[in-house]
Amino acid sequence: MSSISAPRGVRDILPDESWKWEHVLDVTARTAKDFGYREIHLPVFEHTELFSRGVGETTDVVEKEMYTFEDRAGRSLTLRPELSASMVRSYLENRMDKLHQPVKLWSAGPMFRYERPQKGRYRQFWQIDFEAMGSQDPYVDVETIALSLEIFKRLGLSRLEVVVNSVGCPVCRPVHREALQDFLRPRLNDLCETCQTRFDRNPLRILDCKNPACREITDGAPDTISCLCDECSSHFSEVRKGLDTIGAAVSIDKRLVRGLDYYTKTAYEVLSGDLGAQNAVCGGGRYDNLAESIGGPHTPGVGFAAGVERIVLTMEQQGCSFGRQPLLDAFVVCSEEGIRDEAFKLLYELRSAGIAADIDYSGRSFKAQFKFAGGSGASFACVVGPEEVSSGSVTVKDLQSGEQRQVARGDVASAIMTSGHKNG
Ligand code: ATP
Ligand code: MG
Repeated sequence: MSSISAPRGVRDILPDESWKWEHVLDVTARTAKDFGYREIHLPVFEHTELFSRGVGETTDVVEKEMYTFEDRAGRSLTLRPELSASMVRSYLENRMDKLHQPVKLWSAGPMFRYERPQKGRYRQFWQIDFEAMGSQDPYVDVETIALSLEIFKRLGLSRLEVVVNSVGCPVCRPVHREALQDFLRPRLNDLCETCQTRFDRNPLRILDCKNPACREITDGAPDTISCLCDECSSHFSEVRKGLDTIGAAVSIDKRLVRGLDYYTKTAYEVLSGDLGAQNAVCGGGRYDNLAESIGGPHTPGVGFAAGVERIVLTMEQQGCSFGRQPLLDAFVVCSEEGIRDEAFKLLYELRSAGIAADIDYSGRSFKAQFKFAGGSGASFACVVGPEEVSSGSVTVKDLQSGEQRQVARGDVASAIMTSGHKNG
């Protein structure tokens, strides 16, 4: 029987990488706190309808990318492809409209999309997601953009391109849609196949098609900004003013429309030239009609999601620091089987004192234990042998300098703690 491997498009985040993720998530959590966002844990699957109605029937995500299945009772459920719809569902279901507005939440976890796997694109991937619900204030849009940039700055990322646009609202979108269709109609047959099907259902998306032929055709096409209604137009001016005020370097990309239907007004993306084809690190914007599309009362909202794999990839490309890799502080080396219990006692005392410590479980010789301790990255080897036991001491060897000294049995933990070489 052949052994079972992981399904296509999913990855194991092995320990040599997971500590980097921990750093990214730590920085995210601290930045969230500094901006007044509270963490929420949401379910990994939801009713399929939440996404088909919330994200939009004509989006790539809903049309082609969802993992949808029936449970044993015949309900249609879907593994979440994104978090905004679940956030808004939770906001409505838990009557967060009764709280002080906007309600500012964040979450992190795996998302699922049936896509063609390649570098930076997986079928299970992680996002960090921030949402501010219950406010129209353009300065809340500014805050979410600033928050994402602050996270990236704290992670040491550079060379990021931040692009914003306004995609309007149900008042001005139809005006733009018509102008765009009028512009494209004469050359409809020259558009790529996908864009031809978008022409009636979702012409806006034609603007961000990457196909060179489509790009050439849409050069000079009416953009959303030129069709904005007064309200959207002044909202967008305020957003730009706010971004100026906080000194955020952003440029306007009139082609930016984003893949999800629910966006209104502000749309934005953060791109990294170090990622290759999958260059979007982060995407977000305002979604004032999402709540209504899933059956709730009108609830404005704005937020963003960033892909953790792509953040880590970009950080690696740019040589960013992930902090210190958590390694062992101490490896307890036991010279004789007969005193193993003494070694175990020391091991557990060290661990209780908050010192990361381990011991050999595979019967290695005294010498091999030392070698293993050295290779494990531990700062110290703590040797427990018959002489140490009879003198009530432990030989503590600094594995970097090779320096070695006798430490009274009761002082080992504090000697390591105060050594300046504790890892964790
Ligand atoms: P893309 O244009 O790359 O398909 P998207 O617009 O579909 O991205 P969003 O829905 O905005 O992506 O999700 C926000 C972020 O999540 C993206 O900017 C990206 O960093 C990450 N992301 C999206 N899809 C994937 C995936 N399949 N694998 C890894 N990360 C992803
Ligand atoms: Mg996508």
